Amino acid sequence: MRWIDTHCHLNDVKAFPNVDDDLRELADLGIGTIIIGVDPESSRRAVELADHHDLVWAVVGRHPNYAANFHSSELQSYSEWLSHPKVVALGEIGLDWHWDFATPEQQYSALRQQLALAIDLDVPIVIHCREAYDDLIEELSGRERRPRCVFHCFAGSASHAQTVLLWDSWFGVDGPVTYPKSSELRQLIGTVVPRDRLVLETDSPYLSPIPYRGKPNHPRFLPLIGDEVARTWQVDLEEVARVTTQNAVECFGITL
Ligand SMILES: [Zn+2]
Repeated sequence: MRWIDTHCHLNDVKAFPNVDDDLRELADLGIGTIIIGVDPESSRRAVELADHHDLVWAVVGRHPNYAANFHSSELQSYSEWLSHPKVVALGEIGLDWHWDFATPEQQYSALRQQLALAIDLDVPIVIHCREAYDDLIEELSGRERRPRCVFHCFAGSASHAQTVLLWDSWFGVDGPVTYPKSSELRQLIGTVVPRDRLVLETDSPYLSPIPYRGKPNHPRFLPLIGDEVARTWQVDLEEVARVTTQNAVECFGITL
């Protein structure tokens, strides 16, 4: 079986001090990874890892929780990195009303400038949205043009999902789908989200699936998320691996 973890932070030096060993292990397990930046420094590291390893790709950008330190000048770096064939999207970008590390004004400013860049370069965006679905969808709806959207760890309602499906968006599913309380999410991916729009993610080192909940997450746990999707779709694990890997290839335009 081949898998792609479409959202992880193996560029987090504290959480993954021996990342080259991790990436060798993942290659043996048949698990590719898309490593996500949250600021210029972590984005640079994601690009370096993608450059040095097979089955590793990078996403570069400024996370809304770090928007207080966003400077327009960093767009130039993102733009240059995005010309690398293994840098596949701009992200993670978005809005986060759960934390207040950055003001709404700072978050909107970073989001809007990065949206303009993504449209300019015609690249997909990886969206971080926490407790801000109405506002984020309003921001994107009001636009004449918008990039292809990957909703990382989708946590909106069925009506949010239906709206963003009109834009051909993609949905990231993570460890929380394995939690007992996530019946609404399981129902959403069983009924509203088309199977060809779903990609799997771990968000490592965060959001560990059961039975590792509360411990650091690792992309090697990705098949546990696949297991839950297999139960929801009522298919076997091989089918989930095949479909979601193909989806990742199409969504991010990558070549295996
Ligand atoms: Zn993330």
